[in-house]
Amino acid sequence: MEIVVVGGSAAGATAVRSLRAKGFDGAITLVGDEAEAPYSRVPLSKQVLAGTAVAESTRLPALEDQAVLRTGTAAIRLDQDRQVVVLADGTEAHYDGLVIATGARPRRLGVAGEHGLRTIEDSLRLHAQLTPDTRVVIVGAGVLGMEIASSCLALGIRPTLVDKQPPLRRVFGDWISARLTQAAADAGARILAPVRRLRIDVSRERIRAVIADGCRIRADVLISAIGDVPATEWLAGSGLPASDNGLEVDNRGRVTDRITAAGDVTLSPVGGALRRLPHWTHAIEQAQVAAAALVAGDAAAPYEPLPYYWTEQFGRKTTLCAHTAPIGPPDDHNAEILTWSAGQAVVGALNHKAPVGRLRRLHASLNSEGPHR
Ligand SMILES: Cc1cc2nc3c(=O)[nH]c(=O)nc-3n(C[C@H](O)[C@H](O)[C@H](O)COP(=O)(O)OP(=O)(O)OC[C@H]3O[C@@H](n4cnc5c(N)ncnc54)[C@H](O)[C@@H]3O)c2cc1C
Repeated sequence: MEIVVVGGSAAGATAVRSLRAKGFDGAITLVGDEAEAPYSRVPLSKQVLAGTAVAESTRLPALEDQAVLRTGTAAIRLDQDRQVVVLADGTEAHYDGLVIATGARPRRLGVAGEHGLRTIEDSLRLHAQLTPDTRVVIVGAGVLGMEIASSCLALGIRPTLVDKQPPLRRVFGDWISARLTQAAADAGARILAPVRRLRIDVSRERIRAVIADGCRIRADVLISAIGDVPATEWLAGSGLPASDNGLEVDNRGRVTDRITAAGDVTLSPVGGALRRLPHWTHAIEQAQVAAAALVAGDAAAPYEPLPYYWTEQFGRKTTLCAHTAPIGPPDDHNAEILTWSAGQAVVGALNHKAPVGRLRRLHASLNSEGPHR
């Protein structure tokens, strides 16, 4: 039996290790379009961009003894009838079992010269552009945009953040949003959010300024941090339930009997609906489940994700464990671990990265007290 894993990052690398841990001793081929060996993206907007960690420190544990690595080669097509993945170098990889872990790519504004941040290359290229006199405008004040702003400040740059929504609100809720927005402003970031109209002035392929509600902000470097798009384009015509919204999987990460998927590329069943959960912990956990399902089928335990994610910005680590962003203030502002009970069942921590097990146990106890939304 041969298993092919497409996508060589958090989910793909975890799938390889989990298959071996489950006793799978057949051939595994890992196909990845990046030339790099698998690495973590988490430090790219933080320590690597700020220049406090080197690229090598992001490496995930080596996989060479567990799989044949075909890095620097994209999968361009899936032929289910022949059970092959067609690669950009003109070769094919045959599979009896397939794990799809192609993640996501940055959504773009579509203006010449904009920077995105998803890969090591992006982070190093951007870092090289950032000197204290660089005028930086970040479009998008979600988690990524705010982390980039924090790293700019660490480099002596006072960036401008522009967004149509209040910073971080969609993912972390209004109360945490207000605190981290204040922390960003106190540290020296300029925040224009929410704005209603946004226009980018580009001349001769160079960005000159961002115009937000009539306010003109000169920019040497424009960074877009406006979300991501699941990397499903290579699955067009494959017959799999894939779209720009993601690849639909069941609660064992299965797409078909032979094909599973994990991580940022998936649309997963959560509380009766299909959702994307583009977070590190989900990518790891779903890859473990998807590997188990390829080996054990229905005997593999089903997976009901409970989202757990964190951010590090402006000197604070903030963690949340929740199905939805909390609304309003927590029960006790001064507690080490914050809880939003009263029907919300959200737990989090404002000044540290609280361990996943601790938050989930607390979440379970809140949940047993009342239904969450
Ligand atoms: C800068 C940054 C910081 C982050 N920080 C945090 C954080 O602090 N906390 C948190 O919870 N989460 C964080 N995340 C999210 C977390 O990193 C992702 O959820 C995780 O990387 C998802 O892993 P994945 O393997 O599913 O996808 P990805 O990491 O996107 O990996 C997919 C891989 O597949 C490759 N690929 C795509 N298409 C093809 C193809 N056709 N053929 C071959 N290979 C292909 C891609 O190039 C990539 O190497 C961060 C993400 C980024 C970008």
